[in-house]
Amino acid sequence: MSTKIRQKIKNKWKKRDPFNIKNITLFYFILFAGTILLLIWCLQGVFMNRYYEQMTIQEAQSAANQLERYYEDENKDFNRLALLTSVNNGMYIRLEDKGEVSIFDDGSYSNVSNGTYLFEITEARQRLESSRVGKISLRITDKHSDSLRLVYATYINNSRDAILYMITPLTPVKSTITILRLQLLYISFIALFIATMLAFIISSWLTSPLESITRSAEELSNGNYNVKFNGGMFTETKKLARTLNKASYEMQKTDSYQRDLLANVSHDLKTPLTMIRAYAEMIQDISGDDPEKRNEHLNVIISEADRLNKLVTDMLSVSKLQSNTATINKETFDLNKAAEEVEATYEVLNQSEGYHITFTKSKPAFVYGDFDKIKQVMANLISNAIKYCGEDKVIQIKLTRTSRKIRFDVIDHGQGIAEDEISHVWDRYYRTSMNRNRQIEGTGLGLSIVKEILTIHNADYGVESKEGKGSDFWFEMDIVKKDAGRS
Ligand code: ADP
Repeated sequence: MSTKIRQKIKNKWKKRDPFNIKNITLFYFILFAGTILLLIWCLQGVFMNRYYEQMTIQEAQSAANQLERYYEDENKDFNRLALLTSVNNGMYIRLEDKGEVSIFDDGSYSNVSNGTYLFEITEARQRLESSRVGKISLRITDKHSDSLRLVYATYINNSRDAILYMITPLTPVKSTITILRLQLLYISFIALFIATMLAFIISSWLTSPLESITRSAEELSNGNYNVKFNGGMFTETKKLARTLNKASYEMQKTDSYQRDLLANVSHDLKTPLTMIRAYAEMIQDISGDDPEKRNEHLNVIISEADRLNKLVTDMLSVSKLQSNTATINKETFDLNKAAEEVEATYEVLNQSEGYHITFTKSKPAFVYGDFDKIKQVMANLISNAIKYCGEDKVIQIKLTRTSRKIRFDVIDHGQGIAEDEISHVWDRYYRTSMNRNRQIEGTGLGLSIVKEILTIHNADYGVESKEGKGSDFWFEMDIVKKDAGRS
């Protein structure tokens, strides 16, 4: 076969794709219907006769039992029941009672000594006489008509001088079989047709939401974040669509934060760099020989370098915490001590910049965590409160202890946070709309560092805030025993 033809066949198969949902559903539905039909056909062909024979023997047995009861009870009309049984079951019934013969055949009753089926009766009598259980059943083929008969014979009294014979044809009526076969044939076609239709319908139901989701995903991969995923009617596909919608929303958010960050960071980097350059030039040109001025300018340079340092450190912190590469050294310490140390660094603002920072400790409360990282959390929350506290410059730092928990709060009376933005402040690079364009320094990274550290510590955290009234940022940790030296 030439390679061209082989390639053609390969492409055709690729296009057909035997493993798509439609083909697989169709295959299994037809397989299922086919197996059931095959089973029915086999049962019909192989077991029908045996089953029919078994049923007939059981019927004869139960009729004989009933007749025996009637025979032994003088008050009951044996003849009537025998007649009824012969009519209802198409049976030939013969009773030999101390030499007297009664025959019940298809509704007629005769009291003759012989009757038909003599061969069968003689055969059955011989067998019955040599049988120990007192009942026998025989299958006898009629030589003339080639049809099978069941002969059932039993003693129906204890003295064994009354014998009941029952003869019934064993092969089901031919026409019944033909009708059954024909019906089965129709059913087979209908079942196969329904299976095919169902396979098509179900596979279309299944594939259409999947195809639509794939189309949307392709659009999303091309950068269209506004695309909506539609899950169709199934719970699973709806769930998938919901998850993808959420993912695309998150991607969009991250993308816009990333862009904001780039703008913020480049602005934040540019400002101190410009200042550093300007002051360095000033020192070079003007204040180089004036120690007082030179020091003043050098201080500006140092503080701007600090700002740059903080920005870069924050970015590093976030990326380390988020990629789980930050080293965490856990120990047991009093949360009051950590808060005290952090607060002390801000106290200078009370004197120099007119802030009113108050600090309320609780009774000692030991927690298990990374001392420096928890201090970093506190410092971030306090410096945010300082940045956003507004005109009254009042900031409350307090620790409250309950029997099992210790809570740290930083409360300010500043601008607060709008309700629809409150859940986003913990996101990376997020700055509320109020601050985005203002000159307040910030990267939008502080709170995401807080969130990452507190999550590592399994601590609860949150913020209660009202726009224009102020905010209360808090976190809460489990209290442990003072010497719970787990490390
Ligand atoms: P930033 O460096 O911008 O302060 P953060 O992650 O620390 O970044 O804070 C994210 C945003 O949350 C801030 O830009 C600000 O809009 C808001 N925010 C944080 N703390 C406060 C506060 N105490 N009062 C009002 N808004 C706050």
